Amino acid sequence: MRKSTQLVRSRIAAKTTTTNGDAFAAPPVFAAPFHFSGDPSGAAYTYGRFHNPTWTSLEEAIAALESSDGIAATAYVFPSGMAACLAVLSSALRPGGVIALPANGYYTVRRLLERYFAPMGVETRLIPKDVGPRENILRGATLLWLETPTNPELDIWDIRAWSDAAHRAGALVAVDNTTATPLGQDALALGADYSVVSGTKALTGHSDLVLGHVAVSREDLAEQIHEWRTLSGSILGPMEAWLALRSLPSLPLRLERACANALAIASYLEGRRDRRGDVLRVLYPGLPSHPGHALAAAQMEHFGPVVSFALQSAERAESFIAKAALITDATSFGGISTSAERRARWGSDAVEPGLIRLSAGCEAIDDLLEDIEAALD
Ligand code: PLP
Repeated sequence: MRKSTQLVRSRIAAKTTTTNGDAFAAPPVFAAPFHFSGDPSGAAYTYGRFHNPTWTSLEEAIAALESSDGIAATAYVFPSGMAACLAVLSSALRPGGVIALPANGYYTVRRLLERYFAPMGVETRLIPKDVGPRENILRGATLLWLETPTNPELDIWDIRAWSDAAHRAGALVAVDNTTATPLGQDALALGADYSVVSGTKALTGHSDLVLGHVAVSREDLAEQIHEWRTLSGSILGPMEAWLALRSLPSLPLRLERACANALAIASYLEGRRDRRGDVLRVLYPGLPSHPGHALAAAQMEHFGPVVSFALQSAERAESFIAKAALITDATSFGGISTSAERRARWGSDAVEPGLIRLSAGCEAIDDLLEDIEAALD
């Protein structure tokens, strides 16, 4: 069965297990302790920090999405994307360990490493963009952390080539697969050991949930991630899990529309850059002019909903966002409604003051293009 069909059917129990009067989709299960007596080994559910049936349903749906020919994934949900990132970092790194990661990836991961892991003796090696997998960068590394496309500049990293090089160097590989989602990029099949996703973004797509997951195919890694969650108590509430389950079946439709809109917007902006010069640069892996286009076309199912582009100044960028009626000024991305922000307002990314990260939603494209043109004019 195709992944999109699996997702659409993910909340619905098989006919053989339902009886008349059952709810069409199972409701959330709220429980701290579960009724249970006797030997806990092998018990399905005992205590709410260890397991929960609503997590199980969500994790089965995500695991199906992260699996592919020859890869049987296991997924664990977490209360945020960062909690999922931390689960991998905590499982894979020990004092004396070395992590290599893109210099311009998601800022909070770099900050977490700097503030908490460096003082515990973990070395961080930042990889400049535009370098290929080189032995000297990976020599002695414990973990290679990739993010592709990167946030916010949408660089494309070759998951297969980097994973092969990292494995030869004895390192594990994690891919932050937030922007593409596992429906758009099979990180595990491309060679990663961990697929890490902020489900806050396109995976759930309604801008009302914060959550994340880690998927792995190796049993030993699955045990470590599970143990980290149980010991740290970094758990998702059942209501959030249920809302995520409700959002997941529309992922194929949402992505199809949002990515088509993103490509149309990027193409318009590129044309405008050439015609009018008031757009300075456009970054979208779906544009043939993007340096990572061929690689993105090979390793991604679609090019994602995020388009970054630069206007001449911070003032121009702020004014554009304020004037566009259909673009909500908000951080985050991957929602069903179009949003954008001037990225440099946070002071954390090394980008020009006028760089806008726009997340295309599912509105009618003609409305979006008219609105963008009017706001730019
Ligand atoms: N990874 C990437 C690429 C992100 O953009 C984000 C959040 O913006 C995260 C991880 C962290 O996710 P969360 O905000 O759900 O903790």
